[in-house]
Amino acid sequence: MKPETLAAQAMHAIDEATGAVVPPLHLATTYARDHNYELRGPSYTRDENPTPVHVERVIAALEGGPGALVFSSGMAAATAVFRALCKPGDHVIAPRVCYYAMRGWLERFCATWGIALDLVDTTDLGALANAIRPGITRLVWVETPANPTWDITDLSAAASLAHAAGALLAVDSTAATPVHTRPIEHGADLVMHSATKFLGGHSDVLAGALVTAKLDDAWARIAQLRHDEGACLGPFEAFLLLRGMRTLFARVERSSRTAAWLAERLLEVPRVTVRYPGLASHPQHMIAVRQMQRGYGSMLSIQIEGGAPAALDVVRRLRLWVPATSLGGVESLVEHRFTVEGPTTPTPDDLLRLSVGLEHEDDLFEDLRQALVP
Ligand SMILES: *Cc1c(COP(=O)(O)O)cnc(C)c1O
Repeated sequence: MKPETLAAQAMHAIDEATGAVVPPLHLATTYARDHNYELRGPSYTRDENPTPVHVERVIAALEGGPGALVFSSGMAAATAVFRALCKPGDHVIAPRVCYYAMRGWLERFCATWGIALDLVDTTDLGALANAIRPGITRLVWVETPANPTWDITDLSAAASLAHAAGALLAVDSTAATPVHTRPIEHGADLVMHSATKFLGGHSDVLAGALVTAKLDDAWARIAQLRHDEGACLGPFEAFLLLRGMRTLFARVERSSRTAAWLAERLLEVPRVTVRYPGLASHPQHMIAVRQMQRGYGSMLSIQIEGGAPAALDVVRRLRLWVPATSLGGVESLVEHRFTVEGPTTPTPDDLLRLSVGLEHEDDLFEDLRQALVP
């Protein structure tokens, strides 16, 4: 079955008890045993609540993996990977450009636990190959397209390098969504989503997800960690996430088409540089063409001549784009990442990150145009 069909029907979710076409929200934390003291199904909510379990089945199917786990946030999902799989003395690799809070956490975590960390430009396969230490590197973490420059890492090349050294490849695929890239098909071992973003899609639920390529020992350790520590997704959040995912393809295909159109139009605006993987001028455009389908995502960044003051002036003049953090919702957002990340960040101070939503493209462009060329 095609992924649009799986998503729209939440895997043909007809409730057996009532015929309801929307899966029920199960709030019970515990489940009664029968006459023979047997369980009918779940026992306790933590790993077995049917609402989050249903979301896990849909996410696994969309990514083409045999299993998924949902977490209380994207960060809970991402950190579970490192905490379950790495021990003191191991080495891990992460991108220099990636979700800012992830890089910060990794630096603190690795320093505390005696894990060697190399932050490398994962778009540079030579640099990645040089950084990998065969037998010692446990995990290679990449993010593609990478926040907030939308650099593209070649997943199949990174997977080959990692696997040749006995390491796993884990991919933060939040910006790509399963609409544009299915990392497992490119050799990834683990896929992570901040489901707070495009999977939820409505800026009203905090959630994270992991998908595995294999039901192996590494996956069992991640599941055990979530079980032990309880960073599970609550049923109400899972219900909202499942509801959002039913329109995933319609939303993401539309917003990514708008993003591509905006990127092209913005090329014509003076004193603005555009970063978008769909542009022929993007440094890894040809990798994006191979690795992404149905478009290049709903995220782009623009750099404004004149640095931070000019960029902040543009934000002040915008009327429609909402100046807020986060991404992947139905409303378009703009953010000056440098202000949020602080002076030690590699993010340029003239950069504005744009998360494209579902508004009409003419309105979005007109607002940008009047703010950029006052
Ligand atoms: C938001 C985000 C995260 C963190 O997810 P939360 O759900 O906020 O914990 C991780 N990676 C990327 C790329 C993100 O955009």
